[in-house]
Order: sequence, then C-alpha cells, then structure tokens
Amino acid sequence: MPPRRPADHDDRRASAPHVRPGEPRPALSGLWLRGALVVTEPERRRPGFADILIRDGMIEAVGKIDPARAGDAETIDLTGEIVIPGFVQAHVHLAQTPFRGLAEGLELLPWLATRVLPLEAAHDPQTLYAAARLGIAELLLGGCTTILDFGSVNHYSVVFQAAREMGIRFVGGNTMMDAGQNVPKAIRQTKDAALATSIELFGRWHGAAQGRLRYAVTPRFLLSCSEALLRESLALAREHDLLWHTHLAEQQAEVAAVRKATGMASADYLDTLDAAGTRMAFAHAVHLLEGEKRQLADWRAGVLHCPRANSKLASGRAPVPEYRRMGLAVGLGSDGSACNNKLDMFEEMRAAGALQDLAHGPAALPSAALFTMATIDGARAIGLGGEVGAIEPGRRADLVVLDLTGAPFVSAAEPLETIVHAGDARAVKRVMIDGRWVVKEGRLLTADPDEVAAEAARAAAILKERVFV
Ligand SMILES: [Zn+2]
Repeated sequence: MPPRRPADHDDRRASAPHVRPGEPRPALSGLWLRGALVVTEPERRRPGFADILIRDGMIEAVGKIDPARAGDAETIDLTGEIVIPGFVQAHVHLAQTPFRGLAEGLELLPWLATRVLPLEAAHDPQTLYAAARLGIAELLLGGCTTILDFGSVNHYSVVFQAAREMGIRFVGGNTMMDAGQNVPKAIRQTKDAALATSIELFGRWHGAAQGRLRYAVTPRFLLSCSEALLRESLALAREHDLLWHTHLAEQQAEVAAVRKATGMASADYLDTLDAAGTRMAFAHAVHLLEGEKRQLADWRAGVLHCPRANSKLASGRAPVPEYRRMGLAVGLGSDGSACNNKLDMFEEMRAAGALQDLAHGPAALPSAALFTMATIDGARAIGLGGEVGAIEPGRRADLVVLDLTGAPFVSAAEPLETIVHAGDARAVKRVMIDGRWVVKEGRLLTADPDEVAAEAARAAAILKERVFV
C-alpha cells in the first residue's frame, strides 16, 4: 500500500511573516531555465523534461513555456542537467559544526554532559559566527536550501546574521535550558531569561530577509527544562504561530529519566502541558509507545529523522515507515557535526534507507520515499510545506541543478535512483534560493570559502583549548 500523503496541516501553517519594508527585492526578476530533467515529488509524479519560469523569487510556471510568456527573462540552457527542489535540512545544530571529532564514542547523556554542553558553553560571538558560516557553507554546497537550526543559549543573533548574509532559508531559535543535570552555568538560564531571549530574537529576526528567516521556539529537551518553561514556551509559540521544536525520545536512558521525573511517557507529559494546538516538530522520536505515536499524529506534529546521528550515538531506529503510514510528515536531518560528523543530505537519505532495509527488507523506504523526506516532507515537517520542497508554480524558487554526467555518477539507472543512492555534493552544480544563485559551477557565491574554513579552524582550536586543555 502506498504511504498516505502527509496531512497538509503545514499549508495551514504556511502564512509567511510580513515582509519588512525597505528590504531589497531578490536580485533576479526573470529567469527561464530550459531543457532540464525535473525531479520533484517522485511519489506523485515521474521525472520529466520541463522549462521553469522564475520571477520575483517565485516559480511562476513549469512545463512547456511559450517564449511570449517568458518575455525578456534571462534564458539558461540546462540541457543534460537535472533540477530538483533544494533539500530541506530539518534538524541541524550549526553551533556544533566546529565540534566535529571532539565527541566520539559516547551515548547521548554522557555525550552531552562531558563534551557538547561544555563546548557550547565555551562559545563567544566570534566562534559561534564562524561555526554557523562553516555549517551554512557546507549545507549550501551540498544542495540544502532550507534549514531548521537548533541554536545556542547565548549570542544566537550572530547565527541569524550569518544566515541572512549567506542567503540560506533559515528557521531557528535559541536553546532554552533552565533545569537538568550537568548543565554548565554559562548556558543555564532562568525561565524568565530564556523566554526574554526568545522574545527579543523573535522581534528582531522573524520575517527578516523578505521572510527568508523565521524564528522557532526551541527548548532543548524535556530533561533540561522546567515544567513552567515548557508550558510557557508552548504558549509563546501558539501566541505568535511559531514552530515549537525540541528533541523527543532519542534514547532509552533519556526516556527512562523522563518517566522517573514525571511518572509519564514523553508525549503524555507534553500533553499535560497544553501542547495541543501548537505547531510542533520533534527531532528523533525513536522510542515512542503506541499511544505516543498516535498523539503525535493527532497533533499533526512533524518528525525530524536523523539516521546517521541515531546510528552513531547508538540511539536506535525510529519507526519511519510506520510514521509515514500514519500520515506524519517525516523530514531528514543531520543533527550536529558532533554526532554525525557531516552535514550531507545525500548521505542521510541513504542512511535512512539502510536502517530500515536491515530491519524490514529492501523495499521499506524506496528512493522516492527517501527523496520525498529530504524535500517536500521535510518542508511539511517544519511548517513550510506550502512554500518550498517542490517545483511547482506558486512556490519559492529554491532549486538545485545537478550534473550527473561525469564520474562517479555515470549510470544507466533511473535518475532518481542515481541521485539517492550514488549522489553527493560533487554533483551539485548550482543552487538557487528565492530566485537568486548562491552556488554556481560548484562555487559558493555568498561567502569566501577559504575565509570561512580558516575562521572555523581558528574557532575549533579556541573551543578545544577552552574546554579540554
Ligand atoms: Zn539535535
């Protein structure tokens, strides 16, 4: 039986924040992409050759386009190339990008306590900005056009700043933590301070860059937040129609600790905090009871599946095929560089497939399902399903041009299979966001990659010294 199409709850969510007056319009007002093979929403349609007309950052038309309609739009011949929607990286921690390789061989709770939280506490605005730029550069060069970032407690404005400058579509928020064990003093706030930080960032960044930047309310996980903070953060998200994004049921030890502290399963506990009616997206959701799964479906929550991180931290296998059959929107995320250690959506697609293949056989998550999770379902899961994730009129022009004609991609296989099972960042030739090229001929246009790498290397050395030396 084909999976039920996830509910279009996100279309209800799709009200873009008001575009701020005085901000410049997208750089291109008319672009006619000709002759490419378009791969989009492969569970619903076959790949096919089509032209794409783009104006004012939006996809205006897809298919055979009359030259009279294209008018004086700039023409780009993409014969022999493939156009896909930009990938949606649905769960990432940009703050952790320079922690790569510094937190190996640990399960979640000791991984947090001994490595990740001390490193996050050591960030200053300069190291955090360098971390964000490195992560965004890697994501753009790998074909990601939208990200949902799980932030830092302090200095988070610099991450929004990096996203604005580098042109990526960005949803994110400061991490909230006012409780729990092993939280360094520097990143443990009071409830009121955590909420005040959120309100300040929301006011400053939500809707900036023509609506390309969005604010999300992001308490870290149930064990690091007081009941009052969880309840009030949910209310804050509902009041402003914001996404509420947290980690849920990632590991058994965490689930047991939640039960010990609250006497309840994770989703049941959230239900007592008036979560219903809030737009929610949960990273992981590996260890949910049957009733909790139904609760997530009732809430129409998004699930953000991180297969490589779940493998590396030995968290377990989320029941992704079951979630999809239940109608939940399941997106894909890399999680942080401290538990992955790459930010690569091609690899996440393959890892998601492999995890289920091992348990359920090779048809558990076909290529079309994996591609859908990396694009339109990721968009749905984070509340942008009406705006991005597919190539069709009325959506933002967030596209990736792939070149699969050279080594190591040459293949007689179906293009979709090649993208999913053989693709990598070397195939990414161009990336467009809001109708503007941010990558051309495999080169980043919105920052100097050498400078980004050098700054990030400096930041990594500083953080390592602050925490471990
Ligand atoms: Zn995470």
